[in-house]
Amino acid sequence: MKEILFTQKVPVKGKYDVIVAGGGVAGIAAAVAARRAGKSVLLVEKTITPGGLATIGLVNFFVPMCNGRGTVIIKGMAEEFLRLSVKYGFDTIPECWKNGTAGADKPRYMTHYSPQIFALALTELMAEEGVDLRYDSVVANVEMEQRNEGMHCCGIYTESKSGREFFEGGIIIDATGDADVLFRAHVPTVQGRNFFTCIAKLLTLDSCRMAAEKGNIRECYRACFGGNATLYGHNHPQGMKLFTGTSAEDVTEFTVLNQREMLRKLKGDDRNTREVVTLPTMPNFRTTRRIDGNVTLQESDTFRHFEDSVGAICDFDRRDFLYEIPYGTMVRDGFDNLITAGRSTSGEGYAWDVLRVIPPAILSGQAAGVAAAQALDTKRPIFAVEIAPLQETLARQNVMIHFDDSLIPEKVGSAKEDTGHI
Ligand SMILES: Cc1cc2nc3c(=O)[nH]c(=O)nc-3n(C[C@H](O)[C@H](O)[C@H](O)COP(=O)(O)OP(=O)(O)OC[C@H]3O[C@@H](n4cnc5c(N)ncnc54)[C@H](O)[C@@H]3O)c2cc1C
Repeated sequence: MKEILFTQKVPVKGKYDVIVAGGGVAGIAAAVAARRAGKSVLLVEKTITPGGLATIGLVNFFVPMCNGRGTVIIKGMAEEFLRLSVKYGFDTIPECWKNGTAGADKPRYMTHYSPQIFALALTELMAEEGVDLRYDSVVANVEMEQRNEGMHCCGIYTESKSGREFFEGGIIIDATGDADVLFRAHVPTVQGRNFFTCIAKLLTLDSCRMAAEKGNIRECYRACFGGNATLYGHNHPQGMKLFTGTSAEDVTEFTVLNQREMLRKLKGDDRNTREVVTLPTMPNFRTTRRIDGNVTLQESDTFRHFEDSVGAICDFDRRDFLYEIPYGTMVRDGFDNLITAGRSTSGEGYAWDVLRVIPPAILSGQAAGVAAAQALDTKRPIFAVEIAPLQETLARQNVMIHFDDSLIPEKVGSAKEDTGHI
């Protein structure tokens, strides 16, 4: 391929204790957690709306946060965000959970929410917490140098209406979901493959009538699909390739095919009876690139305790199934100030699916923010922060670090429920 050399003087726009790349739920949790630990924080987001897949991807469902037997497993900022997601908009939290608790075999603790209103609430949260924001700005590259403890990221280059700029950072948290920062810093990463999926929201005359009758605006919404492949690949068109989501060509092809498929399906309807409320403004890729971390969570790690756990999580498809997130899934030895959170955390197969959904993504974001602050305070490399104080801080913030063995049933079923578009 023909290449040209690009050299340019770039203004150094600022210096922060912590820089978060990507304003999905994981990045926001990380930014807020680091602010609450007293650090100056910059969050850089390539769109103009916070929340990532959980808002502009039109995924609007907090998967279950409890074990299906009445015990809340995923707490801390994940629960705070769940409550925030429905504070100013509709919810579908089961009544028993609104009143505090639910017994065995009751509906699980989860909710749908308005993605747009959640996005507004997230911008407000970050403003109130004092997170400096840079919207409409892409983290385009990193500046690396060799230090005693390994490779060090001095800061990030952003690309925006202002042109190319540089921000110095003490700790860089990659919450781009695509491991963009880690990849450019040459941290080992793993490439994912995606089925054909695109979810939009639709209103119909019938759904509006039903909403008016029930007095609940949520009833207005219907899902509207381009590609309709589920998490497990059901409905993926035969012969169609799998998508990587990590090149401009691939993202464009995925988007164009999905948008054309959606229009093809809409063409059959009476155009006066329905309206697409909004298209997703980021592609519905579940798995693009993730860190090849010090530890990779496996499905065989179900019910396993990790000494470096930063929080317990539950399976969204199967009651009773519990995991812990090892800190090692977020860092890589030899990179002294780079950490990731959210869907670029290190997991394999279905264990990664359990790890990347909204509540665990928030949990790992919170852990990354707290760990970043602790690494700065103790002047330790991020991959070598002391685990006990990290766990103590997270536990004080209401995170369940280890699940209790009494929650492990003697006999567990294994069938996944196939909840579809998670
Ligand atoms: C089709 C589908 C259905 C799903 N259904 C569910 C569900 O029902 N319930 C559930 O809990 N989970 C579901 N998930 C998973 C869940 O939505 C995501 O895994 C989770 O929201 C990931 O959050 P995140 O913050 O890690 O990443 P993301 O949401 O991907 O956020 C990353 C952010 O970084 C920004 N960004 C990316 N690159 C850059 C860059 N270079 N510079 C600056 N900013 C950048 C993006 O714009 C984005 O805002 C679903 C996912 C998909 C794709």
